[in-house]
Amino acid sequence: MVELSYINPLSSEGKKIVQEYGDLDKLIHENDELVGKIMHTHNQKMSNEKLIPKSIKDLAIKRMLWAIEKKHNKNYTQREFQYFFNTEIHKEDVITFHILAQAIAFNFNLTSRETRLFIESQGILIQERLAKMSLGIREKIVDDILTDIRVDGAIHWKDLKDIFSTKKISLRDLYISNGELILDRDEFLYLYEDEFTTRDPETMYDILVGETVKEQILSSLIMQKTEEYLKKIKEMSRIIEIHPIITQIGEELKEFIPQEISKYSAFYGGSGGIYGSVKGGKLIPEAFPPCIANVVQGVSSGGRNDAIVLLLTSFASYARLYPRIFSSEEQIKVSDMDPDLTITQNEILPLIFEAADNCTPPLFNDQPQEKINIISKLGFGMHSEVDIEHEGETKWYTPMSCEKIKIHLPQLCKPDGSCKGLNNPLSCYGRKKFQIDRKAKQDESKE
Ligand code: SF4
Repeated sequence: MVELSYINPLSSEGKKIVQEYGDLDKLIHENDELVGKIMHTHNQKMSNEKLIPKSIKDLAIKRMLWAIEKKHNKNYTQREFQYFFNTEIHKEDVITFHILAQAIAFNFNLTSRETRLFIESQGILIQERLAKMSLGIREKIVDDILTDIRVDGAIHWKDLKDIFSTKKISLRDLYISNGELILDRDEFLYLYEDEFTTRDPETMYDILVGETVKEQILSSLIMQKTEEYLKKIKEMSRIIEIHPIITQIGEELKEFIPQEISKYSAFYGGSGGIYGSVKGGKLIPEAFPPCIANVVQGVSSGGRNDAIVLLLTSFASYARLYPRIFSSEEQIKVSDMDPDLTITQNEILPLIFEAADNCTPPLFNDQPQEKINIISKLGFGMHSEVDIEHEGETKWYTPMSCEKIKIHLPQLCKPDGSCKGLNNPLSCYGRKKFQIDRKAKQDESKE
């Protein structure tokens, strides 16, 4: 039997598992029962000791590693994480979900890349777990969970804004009555049976509502409930004290997640990643002024477009190709500095596209046209690729001044010592870069 909490750790059954778990000190204890279940997971890769979590805390860290690998690694190996699809570990899995939710809510911003990774991975896990079940069990568990979720009231179409933005489902695909979603077979038949005079209403339910739509809605709703749960934990964090082991997990994740993601980052010199195996860039991220470092981490919906299209695109391109723009009278084009556009393709665009992907929501998910705007700000017209044939159709946009950033994107400007007395992020980058180079030379001469 598959427990509801295996798919929905927020169900009342899931909450009961957490209450019964007791002393959180056990989270770091070696757990023979867990190890046994993992070792007996069908198809689990066992060749590497490091792949096997020994405690619930380990399992939590591995869960985030799975999320990163699944999202970024082109050579992702399911067999290394097969135990996440073993129903036998569902209790440990529920505990893991709840301690991760606490560690993440306490340590990260609700719109952070880390929080998003956790929420998205829950949705993926649900869909993959369902896909591995036999049809009968799968249909039953989906219906049971949807009924369970509906205990709080009907499912309103507005609750599904997130799934519409992914474009996996369109509003046109759904049956809605008085704003409420019709997913239940009996309800569908009750409302629409008379309308199908020439076709079997049961068959029409399978065609028109169908299991795929229900499963996508289910995972979207649980993701949304996970987000609400994190919000609630964050609010409570002001009045309750967090267990030291959860603090420790949060602290570890702060280092672990960026470190693991960077392995797949095109810009930071990793291999693979979302933009393929492009070469590492020569821009120095350690020298980025605070406003640019903030954009690279990802921006939430408010200033997202301007931060990526106007601020980062101009900064990254000039910082890499022509940093002396403000002391020069020359009219310059990108191809004057990068004749075959390889630096633009391999270093500048990957940085901008990664930052766009780090935004909340990821910029191109709902606004793919912004890619064209980025190309246009580099001077290559309104096209989806940089192409020398189109260069000059638009102007290469010059970097924004600190004054403009403070007016239009004030949330990004968090000046530090390197900004003092300067009026442009590009100058600040130049200063920091100079200091880094000088220190490297001094260290070299000491050796
Ligand atoms: S002062 Fe200028 S360079 Fe520094 S963070 Fe603010 S906008 Fe960026």
